Amino acid sequence: MDLKTPIKDAGRSYSMYAKRLEKLGIYTLEDLIYHVPSRFEDYSLIAPISSLQPGEIVTIQGSVESMKNVYTKRFKNLQKAVINDGTKTIEATWFNQPFLVRNIKAGDRISVSGKIELFGPNLTILPYEYEIVKNDKTIHTGRLVPIYPQTYGVSSKWLRNRISQLIFDLSTLEEFLPQSLRNENNLLGLSDALKMVHFPKDDDEAQKAKKRLAFDEFFIIQLSGLKRKELWEKQQIGTPFDISKHRKKIQEFWEKLPFKLTNAQNKAVKEIFADLASNKKPMNRLLEGDVGSGKTVVSAIAMYLAFLNKYQSVLMAPTEILATQHYKTISDLLLPFGVRIGLVTGSSKYYVSSSMNKTKNKHNTKYIIQNTDIIIGTHAVLSKHITFETLGLVIIDEQQRFGVEQRAAVRNKGKNPHLLTMTATPIPRTVALTMYGDLDLSLLDEVPKGRRKVKTWLVPKNKREPAYLWIRKQIKKNSAQVFIICPFIEESESLTTVKAAKKVFEHLQKRVFPDLKLDLMHGRLKTKEKKDVLESFRDGKIDILVATPIVEVGIDIKNATIILIEGAERFGLSQLHQLRGRVGRSNKQSFCLLFTENENDLTLTRLKSLETLHVGAQLAELDLKLRGPGELYGTEQHGMPLLKVASFTNARLIDQTRKAAIKTFPNLIDFPLLQMKLRKHTIKEVTPD
Ligand code: ADP
Ligand code: MG
Repeated sequence: MDLKTPIKDAGRSYSMYAKRLEKLGIYTLEDLIYHVPSRFEDYSLIAPISSLQPGEIVTIQGSVESMKNVYTKRFKNLQKAVINDGTKTIEATWFNQPFLVRNIKAGDRISVSGKIELFGPNLTILPYEYEIVKNDKTIHTGRLVPIYPQTYGVSSKWLRNRISQLIFDLSTLEEFLPQSLRNENNLLGLSDALKMVHFPKDDDEAQKAKKRLAFDEFFIIQLSGLKRKELWEKQQIGTPFDISKHRKKIQEFWEKLPFKLTNAQNKAVKEIFADLASNKKPMNRLLEGDVGSGKTVVSAIAMYLAFLNKYQSVLMAPTEILATQHYKTISDLLLPFGVRIGLVTGSSKYYVSSSMNKTKNKHNTKYIIQNTDIIIGTHAVLSKHITFETLGLVIIDEQQRFGVEQRAAVRNKGKNPHLLTMTATPIPRTVALTMYGDLDLSLLDEVPKGRRKVKTWLVPKNKREPAYLWIRKQIKKNSAQVFIICPFIEESESLTTVKAAKKVFEHLQKRVFPDLKLDLMHGRLKTKEKKDVLESFRDGKIDILVATPIVEVGIDIKNATIILIEGAERFGLSQLHQLRGRVGRSNKQSFCLLFTENENDLTLTRLKSLETLHVGAQLAELDLKLRGPGELYGTEQHGMPLLKVASFTNARLIDQTRKAAIKTFPNLIDFPLLQMKLRKHTIKEVTPD
């Protein structure tokens, strides 16, 4: 049996718990030893019985002189052990645990951690934990005792028993970090670290152990980033685009833009152009920018350059609404320059824009995209029925919404096309550099000029009515348009969520705004219905659009200037910021009202930070501190790895591991174990199951 053994095959004492352990993300014995404690209970003070004082929390160790069940009037049933440690005797008293007389016998050596109390004239110890001592090693008492993240039916005590057995038998665990690296970074050896992370002598040991394991996590992520970068550079031969030949045309396009690009946009375009012109390797760049920072136009310029070089581009977006919107935006920008643009979505799969030729193939119908320069679509573009003639540039919007394999699939539609991925998830820079170590990064850290900050208010419970009155006034007087967002009741767009949104919609329409035009949008509507609703909203035929958070991504309606978010406490700050980004997309003053029934001080303070903070990255940092990366990124939806020990808030360690990785890579020949670990990690990343 080695550490890779699945829990379910590890013998009865484990397998009985396999299902429950899965809830903790534990599938193998190795997972179990990497299940690190969330904190420690300090039972390290071992005191002679003769010196005990009432009120103390201590550990006593001695031999059991007697153990018995006692029946009293007040308590149904007590268990009393008399313990002698050579200095004195004391009674230990448990309540209502008659089975204990089977576990504790006269003559046993026992260790008891608990509270000393006066019981009549005598001292007694009320045990928190006890254990029979077999070989001088205690794990539940007399030390820093690990407390684990728990789940139903798996107690810390059970985990301690199992993990201690595995850990003290760790001769099989091999060190994979080079000695020199450990010395330079002052790291414990792996076996020591694993022992100490569970059973440290003191806090210092616990910290050191954690540091080693956290180092490993980041180090491997960093290394695999470098590895992916190397693979990309080795295997791919770029198709350089010519820029100088088309300089005049690009200039013309520039001048016809309806606005001036921001400095950040200009810089990003420059970086992208440099990549596109390079003959070394295809571009592999992440364009990261806050909501409304203007990523779409940057991508349009890149696509225009591809067009001038006689290459096709594809722009893939996560939702049909977004793809359709991009289709409009890009058409407005590029049709005047003779670029031919098509739309491919789930519902339009068999209606592709007229310029696409349908060529019958022997076995199936194939759409070979001809006479079209840019295809915009959802994941429907991945269909094997769609092939391109000369795909030179792939752009993926909201890239965190797509899986690794989808991103690879769209690239495989061309021969080593350039790749630009875009995201509005405001990832702190340190995290982005770790997560996407293989990508080059362009940041749009500036919003277009003239944009006003969205005025944001946290609306307390008793101000709901006045807020509605104010909204009505804004609609009547300033013909404002309003989003009202209902939270996801369950994890995603479930039926429950839709029902809740319907209820809100009906209530508002009947009771609050009977004279206004309301409509409802949620993810369970048919695509055509969604489009129609959004279209009427865009055309100003709807005053208030009640919606689930599906409007979160990318929707751009300039005249919508108010967004009201119900149950704001259910969202992360970043998510709220994304939602808020649905308004404030013109020069008009916009407003965001956060409704919450929650009265918890911490929650209110968290939400209030939106009133003053308007930069996505800052809010993301704050989210990260307050809620951790899991919540921030909605876990696997955003492709974040689950860190067991490390934390993305530890910028110093991220930096340290990055340097260490750069120093170590690529000379891994002498470190086969590290290579193996890296290979496994990289495979896991590239082929998710
Ligand atoms: P995001 O980065 O969130 O995808 P968009 O690309 O949708 O942002 O752009 C948001 C809005 O800002 C669009 O309406 C777009 O036309 C406009 N916009 C983009 N760049 C500029 C600019 N430099 N000046 C003014 N408006 C701009
Ligand atoms: Mg966008």
